[in-house]
Amino acid sequence: MNSPQSIHRVMHEIKRRKLEVLRVTDLTPLMRRVTLHGEDLAGFISLGTDDHVKLLFPRTPEEQAALDNPGLGRDSEGPRPAMRDYTPRRFDAHSNELDIDFVLHGDGPAASWAAQVEPGQWLYIAGPRGSLVVPDMFDSYLLIGDETAIPAIARRLEELPAGRSARVLIEVASLQEQQPLASQAQVEVSWVVRGEQDLLDAIRNVQVPAGKLYAWVATEAALSRKARRVLLDELGLDDEFVKAAGYWRLDESEAEAH
Ligand SMILES: Cc1cc2nc3c(=O)[nH]c(=O)nc-3n(C[C@H](O)[C@H](O)[C@H](O)COP(=O)(O)OP(=O)(O)OC[C@H]3O[C@@H](n4cnc5c(N)ncnc54)[C@H](O)[C@@H]3O)c2cc1C
Repeated sequence: MNSPQSIHRVMHEIKRRKLEVLRVTDLTPLMRRVTLHGEDLAGFISLGTDDHVKLLFPRTPEEQAALDNPGLGRDSEGPRPAMRDYTPRRFDAHSNELDIDFVLHGDGPAASWAAQVEPGQWLYIAGPRGSLVVPDMFDSYLLIGDETAIPAIARRLEELPAGRSARVLIEVASLQEQQPLASQAQVEVSWVVRGEQDLLDAIRNVQVPAGKLYAWVATEAALSRKARRVLLDELGLDDEFVKAAGYWRLDESEAEAH
């Protein structure tokens, strides 16, 4: 059995939920919060600060019908909607509300849906399938991400108790994307403006504190891989306590243009 003082994974029963959009709130020019609610949220559980749910976006009437009538066939058969991963930013079991924060990056089933969303619309979600629980067993935290990572970073900072420290580097399109990040811990945040400063250089310049450190990275996939190498090879961090994830993927055609 896992000790609560080690990083461990907890699996959950996957349930598909049909939720209604209750509120739409623009947090910054590019970040839109969608508050979902509904009885289907009963039993929703998200134990890990970087959990994700799958959001389901039907693209055809057949995909919509398959979602609305799951009894028509097994889930693995028939038309399947587009699915995208998003962080449960806040879940309130009393009011049965779930916040999802969307980066309005342009075209894509998720971002396009978020760009047009209004209260009263419906969204199917599934999961979380599992949670990676990182207990408070570290002296300090190094949290690195772009806009897509802000919900997970904000959750971790909210969970940290006083007496911990966190160094946070967030790459953003502009300084207008800054959001207040609440925490009892001692937090130093740098907002790294894309195109003006280099995230990898910002990571290289981090003063690694003494003590046990947990590092977490979530950005575009290729950038996250590079960031991980900098953390391991240049800052000398312990592989066991470095988690780097690709949160989205730049198209190959776009990557060539960069
Ligand atoms: C575990 C996990 C949690 C995540 N949590 C969140 C979250 O809470 N909020 C959030 O906004 N995103 C989050 N993401 C990222 C999100 O899943 C991706 O950005 C996803 O690709 C968006 O889907 P889409 O349908 O809008 O675009 P897609 O159809 O996937 O992509 C369409 C085009 O948009 C580009 N693109 C996709 N995302 C971005 C971006 N962020 N910036 C610029 N270009 C982009 C792609 O390169 C492609 O060219 C998370 C990802 C993971 C893996």
